[in-house]
This record gives sequence, structure tokens and C-alpha cells, in this order.
Amino acid sequence: MNQDKKNIEDVGEFGFIRSIMNDCLRSGGDVIQAIGDDCAVIGPYGGKVLLITTDLLIEDVHFMMGKIAPVHLGEKAVAVNLSDIAAMGGKPRHLFVSLAVPSHMAMGVLRSLYDGMKEICRRYRVNLLGGDTSSSPRGLFINVTVVGEAAKDEVLYRKGASPGDHICVTGTLGDSAVGLKLLKGELSAPRKLRQVFIDAQSRPAPQLKKAGLIAQSRLATSMIDISDGLVSDLDHICGASQVGARIFRERLPLSREMRTLCRTKRIDPYSFAISGGEDYQLLFTVPERHVGELNSLFRKKRIPVPVDIGEITAVAGIACVWPDGSESEIREKGFDHFRPS
Ligand code: ADP
Ligand code: MG
Repeated sequence: MNQDKKNIEDVGEFGFIRSIMNDCLRSGGDVIQAIGDDCAVIGPYGGKVLLITTDLLIEDVHFMMGKIAPVHLGEKAVAVNLSDIAAMGGKPRHLFVSLAVPSHMAMGVLRSLYDGMKEICRRYRVNLLGGDTSSSPRGLFINVTVVGEAAKDEVLYRKGASPGDHICVTGTLGDSAVGLKLLKGELSAPRKLRQVFIDAQSRPAPQLKKAGLIAQSRLATSMIDISDGLVSDLDHICGASQVGARIFRERLPLSREMRTLCRTKRIDPYSFAISGGEDYQLLFTVPERHVGELNSLFRKKRIPVPVDIGEITAVAGIACVWPDGSESEIREKGFDHFRPS
């Protein structure tokens, strides 16, 4: 079928992005990475490169106004962009914010939104330098663009993983997906546990410190942040590196709260860990001979050591090794805007 006759939902979010990737460059001289990674990379300028990323958050698609405090929404809009800078091993420096706002929106809400954005910018020493403001016919739109920097040869891309490399993650998986289910009323949890999941969903922390350590070590071969879900984002690394992967289900790191909730509710925590999105942990690959050295760098800094969840393989596809030792390909993918699960 002719591409133009299809709807975007027929090709999916990533099929759409692939369809517009051609003919985007006019003067490619200083473009090191165009469309296709967590940030665009340009330079070098005196040994350093610029990292640029942008993300759009839409009311009732990415957030529900009644379910997240405006101050936390402001923090999150910035945090998810800082996470893309972390994914490349960079340092965020400057930020732009564009809004489309329904006319009836209270100034107090907007003030709180900016309080949240300014607070997280203060925490990570990022300047808010500009943006744009428009009215919106329906719902709040928030677009954030971040400019960061990195040493040219410390940048980590989605490409670069090789068969035999170990696959590591910097923290627990699935808590944010449970938080989203709780906010939507699709799941319930005792009050004490509930807050942990809601915070994972509403107040994700960009893993900039860990990213810096990984990048500066120069021991890793590829990196991405987990925004769409472990398998979906691992699939991006595999696609860009032209490799496959094998993950061990029992090794996936789960929070204590996740284990407790899923045990009492008799639900499978691993489906959240495998395909739930918005963890904003880092997923990266390291050659086997460097794993020990990288882990000891984390120990020296008293930062929790990344969890080794599997290995890169030469055959395409992502396989899961089950607790009984059997292996099968994972078909469930993470979030795609045009292919809701
Ligand atoms: P992330 O989840 O890390 O934000 P995405 O999956 O949204 O990354 O995007 C993948 C790549 O596609 C990035 O390089 C991004 O800049 C690019 N991209 C996404 N949407 C568009 C678009 N509408 N036009 C041009 N490039 C896009
Ligand atoms: Mg990303």
C-alpha cells in the first residue's frame, strides 16, 4: 500500500519517524548525530559537542491535570528532557519552554508549573533562556527543549553495542507504570506503598550523576534512557547497533514496594518491568572485560552499582530467559503513541 494512503496509526510512532528521516540535512558538516538518538549531537567546538533534545507533553495524553500537582508537572516536563541529555552522557546547560494554554487556566497554576521547572533547573544548574506562548483550543501543551554539552569522545549513542556486551540498568523498573495504573484507578494499593509508585510516575529523577560516571569512564559502548519501556528502548539500542539481546527475567531489578504489592495482589511484577514506561533509568552496554572496573567506579563513589540484566547477541530480536532456563522471544513492546496497548 502507498505510504501516503496509510494513517499514522498504521505505521506507528517509530514508523512515522523513519518515514521523515530522509532529506533532513542541508549542511551536514558539523552534524555528528541527526534524527535517531536521544539527542542531536553537533560540533565539535573545541573538543566539546552540543547535545540538543526536545519533548512534548500534552494534557490527557502525557498527564491529567487533576492527577498531578502543577509544581510536579513542571519538574517532570524538565526532568524527561534532562533524562535524554543523561542518556548521551552529557551535562544539561540551557532550556527553552513553549506553552499552549487554554484561556481559562488560572495564573496560580501556571506560577506553580514554573516554580517546579525553576526548582529542578536550580538543582541541576540549568538556565531557562526562553520559549514561546500561545493559546490552546483544548488542554495544556508543554514543549521543553534542552541544550547540553559533552566531551566529544565521551558521548554515548544508541549504536555501539557488540555481541557479548553485558546489558545493565541503573535502577528498579516498573514502578512508574504501576503509579500510572494507580492514578487511573485501574489498580489499588495501601496508602504507604501508593506514594512510592505515584512519586515514580510524577517525579522521575534524571540519572545525570550516574550518566556522567558511565560516560567519563569511557567503558560503556551504548546508552539510552528508559522512557518507553525496557524492551522498547533495548530494541532501539539493538536496531541502531544491528544486534540482538538476551535478558534474564530473574535479574530485572524490582523495588521492595513492587514485590510487596504484586505478591499481595497476585499480579506479575515483571510485565511492568519489561514493558512499563517512564522509568527514566539508564540502559547501557559494557564489554565483559570492563564490567568489574565500571562497577568499582560506582562503589568508590558510593553510588548503587548498576544491575547486569543480560547480554547482547548476534541474532536480531530480544529473547527472555525464564526462571526454568527456557528462552523465548519477547513480542510485547513498550509505548507507541499510535498503538495503545
Ligand atoms: P525520546 O523517546 O528519547 O525522546 P523519540 O523516540 O521521541 O526519542 O525520538 C526518536 C528520534 O526521532 C529523536 O532523534 C527525535 O529527535 C526524532 N523525532 C521524533 N519526532 C520527530 C518529528 N516529528 N520530526 C523530526 N524528528 C523527530
Ligand atoms: Mg530518550
